[in-house]
Amino acid sequence: MKDDNINLKHAIQKLNFREKVRRSFELIEQARDEYGDGLVVANSLGKDSLVVWDLAKKVDPDIRGFIVTTRYKPPETVQFMHDLVAEYPELEVFRNEQHIQENLYETDPDQCCQLLKVIPVRRAIEQMDVRCWVTGLRCTEGRTRADFREVEERDEGLLKLNPVLIWTEREVWQYLALYGVKVNPLYAQGYRSLGCAPCTMISAGGNERAGRWVGTSKCGGECGIHTKPLKTDSQEKNDRVKTPVGA
Ligand code: SF4
Repeated sequence: MKDDNINLKHAIQKLNFREKVRRSFELIEQARDEYGDGLVVANSLGKDSLVVWDLAKKVDPDIRGFIVTTRYKPPETVQFMHDLVAEYPELEVFRNEQHIQENLYETDPDQCCQLLKVIPVRRAIEQMDVRCWVTGLRCTEGRTRADFREVEERDEGLLKLNPVLIWTEREVWQYLALYGVKVNPLYAQGYRSLGCAPCTMISAGGNERAGRWVGTSKCGGECGIHTKPLKTDSQEKNDRVKTPVGA
């Protein structure tokens, strides 16, 4: 599967809601045809992932998924995750239980995200034999998300599909409302982008991710799963004994 080099800025503005839904559905369908069970959806429990998950289930109810959670997720998110996994047992949960320095999110949030988010994603990809992972990344979410493509291959042998890349925030909510998809109750409090409790605030303004990592150099940025290599290297395999990750 190859990126078709669509002009993203043009597509964001010119395709209507129905056309975007169709395009996203067809991208997932095409990837499912090509990768079969090696296609797995990363479900972050956020609104964008819920659109992708709903579309994927319409393409094929047997599509599998994984959730990466951390010890710092808000209780509402944990409960939402339990409810979703009860409904979809084909969602596997990965969490790094490794001991880390207290308040690492304050002193070194990049390292905290590396340990608690990037490493479990790597484990999910390895343990679930993922050949194509599907995300809810959108290029209108903020400054750090403008340069992605719908189909990427940053790691050799691992395709990344971003099927809702060209959707706007409004279109995400439009889809969720029209199709009655349940969302994390934290959105009703005003959050626009959800992460770990210590690193997520309610924000306003144009940048959807402005409430993430407020007060740090990482503000509005990335946890690393969309920017770092995800194929487990030999060093990491050696580290596995020290960093237990499980459901
Ligand atoms: S979002 Fe914050 S608490 Fe969560 S892993 Fe990243 S730095 Fe740590």
